[in-house]
Amino acid sequence: MDKVDITVIGAGIMGLAVAGEAVSVSSSVFLLEKNLSFGMEASSRNSEVIHASIYYPAGSLKHTLCSEGRDMIYSLCRSNDIDFDQCGKFIVAPKKSDTEELHSLYVNAFRNSVPGIELVTPAKVKAVEPLINCAEAIFSPRSGIVDSHSLMQYFLSRAREGGAEIIYGSCVTGIQPEPPRGYRIEVKSAEGDIFEYISAKVINCAGLNSDSVAAMAGIDTEEAGYSLQYSKGSYFRLSDPEKYRIQHLIYPVVKKHSATLGIHLTPDLAGGIRLGPDTQKINGRETDYSVNESKKEEFAASVKDFFPDVSPNELYPDTAGIRASLKSEGEFKDFIIKEESEKGLKGFINLIGIDSPGLTASPAAARIVADLLK
Ligand SMILES: Cc1cc2nc3c(=O)[nH]c(=O)nc-3n(C[C@H](O)[C@H](O)[C@H](O)COP(=O)(O)OP(=O)(O)OC[C@H]3O[C@@H](n4cnc5c(N)ncnc54)[C@H](O)[C@@H]3O)c2cc1C
Repeated sequence: MDKVDITVIGAGIMGLAVAGEAVSVSSSVFLLEKNLSFGMEASSRNSEVIHASIYYPAGSLKHTLCSEGRDMIYSLCRSNDIDFDQCGKFIVAPKKSDTEELHSLYVNAFRNSVPGIELVTPAKVKAVEPLINCAEAIFSPRSGIVDSHSLMQYFLSRAREGGAEIIYGSCVTGIQPEPPRGYRIEVKSAEGDIFEYISAKVINCAGLNSDSVAAMAGIDTEEAGYSLQYSKGSYFRLSDPEKYRIQHLIYPVVKKHSATLGIHLTPDLAGGIRLGPDTQKINGRETDYSVNESKKEEFAASVKDFFPDVSPNELYPDTAGIRASLKSEGEFKDFIIKEESEKGLKGFINLIGIDSPGLTASPAAARIVADLLK
């Protein structure tokens, strides 16, 4: 039976970034992906925003990895010709009554040492975004957008060059701890064949299935606080972006530490403008990515206070993504990035609850995983 040093499960942006770092520890790395290509789930169904780390509690993994990941992504983009735009972001308080929340978010951003953050007047917003109304706003010059596909491609190349084998159409269906050798991994191919091998170490980057993969290794996910709650986020696209010419990311203010950021306006690198995502809790494990066209009234209404000119018949359905969030009763949930020796699973590393800002945090999270591997 084959034996490898490190198995990474899942080729989303996290698994790819992790595999790109894991090859610095060993060149014997398998990256297993159940789909026929990389990044077909959350990593290609998001806003592609490089977050500045404004919202998260100081000292949380979401705060620290987002800050480090932001700077790493800008520098990777510059040195590897990956398309990006550090366009900046306004978080707007549409009404006077929203400004208290805005100030509280500003204090949080300040505490998180977000570079260049400032409170700005409606006149300053109007000067650069004439169609946006607000009572006050936060400007974040370090927020931007990135071509997430090219970023994933870059991580993939790094992993391949370091010797990793990327195996598509390979769904991990079982994990049996076999100390001291490691773990017996059972894999089902796209054709339905089963194969097994031994891996000394395992890194679970399985996104929407990361709790199930942890359970395969024998972890009681409910007891560990590892169970996921899916929530769907849909997007609509403006039919005539030229008419509006929005230059910045425009977000409505939300409570600090909020799990989602409200329906926002995102210019994309191709010159389009999207509205979204909304938040729709999913009961169970359904992954239906269709966008319900009848929601366009609701989308136009939700941005009306700060973007009054848009009408529902200028919106058409775009993509949707599903967030792999940890179950919560409204309280903040941090990423779980943990080596599980405490649970008797030496060399087993879980990445669970990797919702936003997972894209931004990915290169920094991968560094942490490499340290755990050493
Ligand atoms: C609507 C939405 C908007 C977002 N916006 C942003 C944003 O603007 N900025 C930002 O920083 N973050 C954003 N995020 C968060 C970000 O997209 C995710 O945190 C990130 O993509 C997670 O990457 P991942 O690799 O963990 O998961 P995924 O991309 O879901 O990858 C997991 C992979 O594991 C594979 N897999 C699962 N089970 C198995 C198995 N048993 N065997 C083999 N393979 C398996 C899957 O097929 C998949 O390819 C957003 C998320 C959503 C849903």
